[in-house]
Amino acid sequence: MAPLGPAPDHEHFRLYYPATEEPLADVHIADEESLRAAVSIARETFEQGFWSTMLPSERARIMRRIEQTISRHSEELALLHTLETGIPIAQARAMYIPRSAENFGFFADLLASHAGETYEQTGRYLSIVTREPVGVALVIAPWNAPTVLSSMKLAAAIAMGNSVILKPSEYAPLSILRMIELAYEAGLPEGVVQVVCGTGETVGAYLTQHPGIDAVGFIGGTATGKRIMASAAGTLKKVGLELGGKSANIVLATADLERAIDGSLMAIFSGNGEQCLAGARILVEDSIADEFIEKFVTRTRALRVGDPLDVSTEIGPLAFRQHFEKVSGFAEEAVSNSHYRVLCGGSPCEQFDCGFFFEPTVVETNSNSGRLCQEEIFGPFVTIQRVTGIDDALETANDSDYGLVGYVWSDHLPSVMKIRKQLRTGTVLVNTPMARDLRAPFGGVRQSGIGRDGLPGSIELFTEEKSTLIPHAPLDLPKFGADGAP
Ligand code: NAD
Repeated sequence: MAPLGPAPDHEHFRLYYPATEEPLADVHIADEESLRAAVSIARETFEQGFWSTMLPSERARIMRRIEQTISRHSEELALLHTLETGIPIAQARAMYIPRSAENFGFFADLLASHAGETYEQTGRYLSIVTREPVGVALVIAPWNAPTVLSSMKLAAAIAMGNSVILKPSEYAPLSILRMIELAYEAGLPEGVVQVVCGTGETVGAYLTQHPGIDAVGFIGGTATGKRIMASAAGTLKKVGLELGGKSANIVLATADLERAIDGSLMAIFSGNGEQCLAGARILVEDSIADEFIEKFVTRTRALRVGDPLDVSTEIGPLAFRQHFEKVSGFAEEAVSNSHYRVLCGGSPCEQFDCGFFFEPTVVETNSNSGRLCQEEIFGPFVTIQRVTGIDDALETANDSDYGLVGYVWSDHLPSVMKIRKQLRTGTVLVNTPMARDLRAPFGGVRQSGIGRDGLPGSIELFTEEKSTLIPHAPLDLPKFGADGAP
């Protein structure tokens, strides 16, 4: 195995509160020795079997206690979440933290009904098909929704009996560290989950190529996903990739306009627009475009941007400086390129003398091929394109390397059904801004990912199927070599 990539040049990674740019915490970066130790502890834990062979009902009981403990500490977790991401605390309280707790409950419940299968295969045999844990799973999380996304994969992995190494984003490890501390307080046996912190290029890259890791559940950007797949190929690890998106949000003339506006605002601006499933490309039918755009822009201008710890804030600061600069770069292009017309926003917020606040931005364009419509901006930034009808909407929506989510707003069932069928995305959301249900698989097609979160994808990633064939009665076997034997 290659040595740990570029050595970290600091022992700590400094985090800043994105609203004030004040230092928030120094996070220890794992070195090669501690990473090796983490993998060997995970392997030992798995092989000792106290978790991997524990009765499913007992594992479920512990996971329910984890759910309850996280719920009891939701205020503290929401605060950490907001401090490290800049996502408004009202949203952390209402969505991100409750969902993080529920993920453990969901997979605990699943254990009550999770069973193998048996087949009478050829009449003479009984085939028993069981699912067994892969062993040591690595979960790599992004910064935009640290606890909810990591727990979605983590809960599935531990429910199936695996040991897990969890690597948070270097930009948002605090809420995850506390969540796992709470899991241990709730009774998770020592060694089942270990959190290792550090940058992706060093700690992440080291672990994805480590032969002691059996499966990688990754949530993050598409470019990183490609690197991880290449790195994991050396030891043929199972890999699940939940990657980026550039989701089209189609608003037809048959939509309930007010609801479509409410929903489209949520689809792009909740979570500061830093969401994989953000409805970042609005495609609106010509006949209602003027009215839609006027109302949408008026509401965007009225969004409350401010201190993410204020419960009335709707949009907080972007998460960290490099990301703020990236979003600013897209806005500069919108201003300078004649293909784009900035309808509102387009600049850092002037009213704040510090922090990574960016104005909610709406840009109209008639060109789908430019960067603004093709690349993930991952901020409070939306493009609007006029389309002539359903076929034009579908062609424009599908003209993308991504395929995570597609939104459609219409009360005309045949139109909805046609769009549902022809959108090339992993999920289609009809007349709703955002919804994730773990019973329904979530993931992307094309460069938005490989595999699915939820059922059955999460279980498939973190288990291996084993078939055992047993004859009902002693077989009448041919006697190879018997004729020539002395
Ligand atoms: P990122 O790809 O930069 O980083 C994600 C994680 O990967 C981090 O923990 C990072 O340290 C690690 N990493 C980076 N390089 C690595 C490497 N070479 N080897 C191993 N690990 C490495 O993504 P981000 O900026 O943290 O998150 C935003 C991205 O995540 C967006 O593209 C967003 O769409 C995507 N995302 C996808 C989903 C989904 O479910 N599809 C959900 C949330 C976010």
